[in-house]
Amino acid sequence: MAYLEIKNLHVALEDGTEIVKGVDLEVDLNEKHAIMGPNGSGKSTLAYAIAGHPAYEITEGEILLDGENVVEMGADERAQKGLFLAFQYPHAIPGVTVTSFLRSAINAIRKAKAGKDDPIPVKEFRTEILAAMERLKVPRELASRYLNDGFSGGEKKRVEILQMALLKPKIAVLDETDSGLDIDALRIVARGVNEVVGPEMGALVITHYQRILNYVTPDHVHVFVDGRIVESGGPELAEKLEAQGYDAWLPKEEVAA
Ligand code: ADP
Ligand code: MG
Repeated sequence: MAYLEIKNLHVALEDGTEIVKGVDLEVDLNEKHAIMGPNGSGKSTLAYAIAGHPAYEITEGEILLDGENVVEMGADERAQKGLFLAFQYPHAIPGVTVTSFLRSAINAIRKAKAGKDDPIPVKEFRTEILAAMERLKVPRELASRYLNDGFSGGEKKRVEILQMALLKPKIAVLDETDSGLDIDALRIVARGVNEVVGPEMGALVITHYQRILNYVTPDHVHVFVDGRIVESGGPELAEKLEAQGYDAWLPKEEVAA
């Protein structure tokens, strides 16, 4: 049994439009999966539904974390069960430094686990954050700045990856926004994923960027078109995508149009 199991997942928008139309997917610890699909195919909708965003309604199917169906759980509870969605805090928070934000995030998870306040000791936090920054090559000066306030795209990604490394989720879902994706940012995410995935963690990287293989080395690649996984395979599938684009999987009319 994989740590994250998605069974026949259907997701609709608030107006009832079905966007995700029956997805089956298993992501285990120590595995790197890539979901690749064209813009508008429903990749972010899938990511939000996994994370528990209230605007995306699961109309059918199951999401199991360590064998437990989390569909009725809120985003916080899913996070406590070991799920991490990158890009869930894209907004600037002036007045809150990166360090204090990370400490609060860690303490929220610790509190949920312990059932009472269990703040991380200052020294331990300092040791961990410094080690993680070193390992992920996050510049020291970023830690004392206000969260995302005037950050470049690359700096935002660095902080998200740092957050992931410190929270130690079981499954990380990284949704690459399709607009403004730059190669630097992807490289940072890729390096982070390669660094943190291991026996205690698996990752699902979602992107429309076809040359992802140059940066992340997924073990499993899934082609996602119009709300469905239409083909799954190994890294060779990403190579096929790089060479041919999504045309081979799109309905014929759309290719001609
Ligand atoms: P992708 O991430 O693959 O580009 P999305 O999941 O963002 O695709 O979007 C799939 C479709 O759902 C698009 O037509 C998009 O406009 C629509 N959609 C997604 N989220 C919302 C929302 N919150 N409100 C309205 N439409 C949405
Ligand atoms: Mg998207």
